[in-house]
Amino acid sequence: PSAMHDINLKPPPIHFDDIGGQESVKRSLRRAVRLSTESVDVLQKYFEHPPKGFLLYGPPGCSKTMAAQAMATESGLNFFAVKGAELLNMYVGESERAVRRLFQRAREVAPSMIFFDEIDSIAGQRQGFGQKGGGSSTSHGGLNVLTTLLNEMDGFEALQGVVVLAATNRPQALDPALLRPGRFDELIYVSPPDEEARKAIFRGVADKRRMNEDVDIDALARDTDGYSGAEIKGICAVAGVAAYDRYVNAWEDDDTGIMMHDLVYAIQSQKQQIT
Ligand code: ATP
Repeated sequence: PSAMHDINLKPPPIHFDDIGGQESVKRSLRRAVRLSTESVDVLQKYFEHPPKGFLLYGPPGCSKTMAAQAMATESGLNFFAVKGAELLNMYVGESERAVRRLFQRAREVAPSMIFFDEIDSIAGQRQGFGQKGGGSSTSHGGLNVLTTLLNEMDGFEALQGVVVLAATNRPQALDPALLRPGRFDELIYVSPPDEEARKAIFRGVADKRRMNEDVDIDALARDTDGYSGAEIKGICAVAGVAAYDRYVNAWEDDDTGIMMHDLVYAIQSQKQQIT
């Protein structure tokens, strides 16, 4: 029992189908899973160094964490997840021990997967003070944790059957040592959703909520260029509240569900917040 309570989180029930678009991300992650259970024989046929570390990078709210969760749900691998910042909120020496223990347990129950979310908080450039986190103790602690992480990742045998996945929205802030061959050598860009993906996200919401027949998903997808998946979910949530208020205040049994104008209004109010 440590500050990290039990690191082996129960995988949240997120599936690849819950993620709109991002087909190439899904393909890369499925390959990563496959690689973790591939025989040495096959690996040697195709790779000098089989990829073992996968880094998801891209702007916030665009399904990096979700993709890792879907991978955990669908792969059947034993899943360990930890947030970078959690590792820093520990006593001196504790975080390093936690990282070593994490890898040890992952190896014991291989095939397995370790997911470091927000890895930039422990793997920022080694130049004293990071932009985030501030204080010198944090930067120093981060450095030791990073060194421990790199040691654990080096050495092929040590990691057989263990996939290491990390996510960041500040790839430029990462210590380059992390990206050297044999470490996080496969970079997976998770882009903002394109029009097709935005349609899929709206459709995903429409499948679960009550949406009026007047909702035009194609138009919504067109009007949300540049929005993240999280922002689109936010728009749907705001529209849901407006529709619920109408339902509550209706004199008659006026259950329209979420209407197009609720969504359009939500998009407009969000645009005003951004600009
Ligand atoms: P951050 O870098 O801020 O941690 P992230 O890229 O890890 O962001 P997630 O946490 O995976 O983003 O996504 C945030 C929320 O946005 C999700 O819980 C989900 O509701 C929604 N979302 C984002 N992208 C998609 C998508 N492609 N399909 C469906 N929902 C999405």
